[in-house]
Parts: sequence; structure tokens; C-alpha cells
Amino acid sequence: MKKIAIYGKGGIGKSTTVSNVAAAMAALGLTVLQVGCDPKADSTRTLTGGENIPTVLDTLRQNGDAALDDLVVKSSTGVLCVESGGPVPGVGCAGRGIITAFEKLEELDAYEVYKPDVVLYDVLGDVVCGGFAMPIRGGYADEVCIVTSGEMMALYAAANIAHAVKSFGKRGYASLRGLILNAKNIADEQELVDKAAAEIQTPVIYRLPRDPFVQQAEAQGKTVVEAFPACPMAAHYQSLAKLLLEGGETR
Ligand code: ADP
Ligand code: SF4
Ligand code: MG
Repeated sequence: MKKIAIYGKGGIGKSTTVSNVAAAMAALGLTVLQVGCDPKADSTRTLTGGENIPTVLDTLRQNGDAALDDLVVKSSTGVLCVESGGPVPGVGCAGRGIITAFEKLEELDAYEVYKPDVVLYDVLGDVVCGGFAMPIRGGYADEVCIVTSGEMMALYAAANIAHAVKSFGKRGYASLRGLILNAKNIADEQELVDKAAAEIQTPVIYRLPRDPFVQQAEAQGKTVVEAFPACPMAAHYQSLAKLLLEGGETR
């Protein structure tokens, strides 16, 4: 089982990237589990027809307990979808929510029941507190990739996340695989990300262009891979999926 956590600043394109990669991996015949670790709880929306699925935390709050079927939704592309969810706004700790969701999945033997080949964690990386670091610290993820554009705040978040992964890495937790550039088409973007990668001492493993097909697919409640499988952006996500499965870097 390969376990990869994808971090990055809010709004940078983590969920879009993870969902498309998950759909591409599922199309290769792999069993893929995508776990959204963002209080926004919209990680898997483009896999589930644009609908938000019930979150682990909401289900536990409402029902007191949960069965696997309540928490894991199989999408039309075959990807198994989970959303950890968040606390009641203004009350409670989002990081604690991630921990609760992970513990519940383990208690319900989700990994034994579904036997995923790949687990993808889609994690908000604006704050890398103990809770949001859980996929790294708890032995859940083996590898971490960071999605970034050339924007200053995205690179700032990337540097923070890289710092956290490296400090945990010394203790044998997940390792930092590299950056995934998700272009916003700002001036000198490639150079800015290359410079930041050099400072962080990690490679840029893939460069995704900005592409209007992403929004068109999103409007249909689908991934690009599902809605427009023949377009160049789908090919990019397929290449990134293979890269994440096999190792190495491109471009
Ligand atoms: P995050 O999960 O990091 O908060 P999202 O994946 O929800 O971010 O993406 C935020 C917005 O950016 C979405 O509306 C999505 O359509 C858009 N987006 C992401 N990646 C691309 C891209 N490569 N090209 C065009 N639009 C993109
Ligand atoms: Fe919880 Fe992290 Fe927010 Fe603190 S910063 S309340 S640990 S999610
Ligand atoms: Mg997201």
C-alpha cells in the first residue's frame, strides 16, 4: 500500500490535483482511497458528482457512532472517498478532527476491508500544527508532496510544510518527495518556484499548467480525467499519477 500526503496552501489546487490523480490511478485498475483532511470537506467533490459527502466528524456528532458504509463513498470513477470534516466553527480543533477521523477509520478496519493499493491524503497546509501534521507524524503517509504556485503565500506555506516534514523525517516518519507546481500564470512563476525548491532543497517533481478544462469539468461535478479524458490536462494528471506511483521526477 502506497500512502501519499499532498499538502499546500488553501485554494492552491490540492483537491483538484489529488482527485484527478486518484481518478487516473483508479483508471489504471488500482484501488484508491482519498481522504480529505480539510475542514472545507470538499476534497472529493469532483469525484462524487459535485456533491459533498457526509464527513466523519458530522456523522459522529449526529449519530454518536458510524459504520464504514456511512463514511466511505465509492465514486463513479471507483475512487473510495472519505472527508474528515471539521469542528463546529469557532469551537474545537480542526487538527483533532483529522486525528478522530483517522482513528475511526482504523477502528473500523477500513484498510483491511478495502485493501487500497494507494491512499491519498489531501491536507490543508496553511497551519502545520500537530493536528494537520498527523498524516506525517502518525505513520499514515510515507511520502509528502507539496502543491504550490509561484505566489509568495503559497511558497511560504510550502517552506513551512517542508520544514515540518524534514524535522519529523529525522525520526523516521514520512519523507518529502518534492513540489508540484500548479501554475497560476504569474510573472516568472517557473523561476520563482525553482528558486524556492532550491532553498527548501527538494525537487519540483511535476509542473501542471493552468487549464480552463479544470473549471469546465468542475462545473459538471467531475474530474478532468473523467469529463475530458482526451484533453492535454488529463494527460498531465495521468503522467503525475504514474510518477507518484513509480518514483522519480519529470520536466
Ligand atoms: P485546494 O484544495 O488547495 O483548496 P482546489 O483544488 O479546490 O484548492 O482549487 C481551487 C480552485 O482552483 C478550483 O476552483 C479549481 O478549479 C482551480 N484550479 C486548480 N488547479 C487548476 C489548474 N491547474 N487550472 C485551472 N484551475 C485550477
Ligand atoms: Fe487545532 Fe491546529 Fe487549530 Fe490549534 S491551530 S486549534 S491544534 S487545528
Ligand atoms: Mg481542497
